Amino acid sequence: MSARLLDGLSLAAQIRAEVAAEVAAFARWRRAPGLAVILAGDNAASAVYVRGKVKACAEVGIRSEQFSPPATATTEDLLRLVRELNQRDDVDGILVQLPLPPQVDAAAVLLAVAPAKDVDGFHPLNLGRLVSQRPGLVPCTPRGVIELLERNRIEIAGREAVVVGRSDIVGKPMALLLLHRHATVTICHSRTPNLAAVCQRADILIAAVGRAAMLDERHIRRGAVVIDVGINRLPTAEAVEMYFPGQKRTSTLIGDVDPRAACTLASAFTPVPGGVGPLTIAMLMANTLQAAVAR
Ligand code: NDP
Repeated sequence: MSARLLDGLSLAAQIRAEVAAEVAAFARWRRAPGLAVILAGDNAASAVYVRGKVKACAEVGIRSEQFSPPATATTEDLLRLVRELNQRDDVDGILVQLPLPPQVDAAAVLLAVAPAKDVDGFHPLNLGRLVSQRPGLVPCTPRGVIELLERNRIEIAGREAVVVGRSDIVGKPMALLLLHRHATVTICHSRTPNLAAVCQRADILIAAVGRAAMLDERHIRRGAVVIDVGINRLPTAEAVEMYFPGQKRTSTLIGDVDPRAACTLASAFTPVPGGVGPLTIAMLMANTLQAAVAR
């Protein structure tokens, strides 16, 4: 059996087009929605992510503004910036790109973002709304995974879902969204004994661990839907050849799932890159529009 690839790139383009149409309608009676992006310090990977987000904003008609405090910025500097942005009428969404420089209290900065402008859905108030199924801003990556499942007509209700990873950003909200759609959900983490046996129960297996190709043929039940949230780098030509035979590269991206196992055992799976990643940015656009409309 060869698994169906769940194409996040084309779905993300479709969602961005839908958001663009709604943004244009919104802009006609009010103004273009505005997103403020804070990129503190000089983390190269963060700069790449932010470029992708700013580019997506331009494509859908959202006005973006980037703030780049230096690597030496203090917690107080960032709190001042966030408070200013909270007050601005033309800013609907505030995104604080993580990680922040080590001397900054990241939790304090995230807590300072006005919940109505918290387009990443990281504020405890929005998390509380998610837990209690009240309307609010939902973290982009898990929201993107749900779009991917639903728009590919993958049944969630009544199925066994296993989420590997319990971060506040991905694993926990992912589990809640699946639970609210009536899946029977198990959350696994680094202290879960016999991880493979738990994963084998999954009709829907979600990997959000951050360890290259950690889940393999021992973890995937034949016919399962496998969603790979992980983004890791294979650093050597030997490693690339092992997982992607024939690809003559010295490094490449890989998810948390061994693509060879997913390809042969799963009924459907998300490639890395081109699976969940593009949806995260598309849902950021959707969240910014939602924040603008709600204000
Ligand atoms: P975190 O590091 O915050 O969380 C990782 C989770 O994996 C933790 O809950 C940890 O358990 C668990 N874990 C670690 N090792 C094991 C193990 N050996 N067995 C079982 N569980 C384990 O990562 P994030 O949730 O922020 O991100 C996860 C991955 O998703 C990363 O690769 C990240 O780059 C990627 N990502 C991708 C996005 C996208 O757009 N596609 C967006 C966001 C993230 P414990 O809690 O016990 O430590």
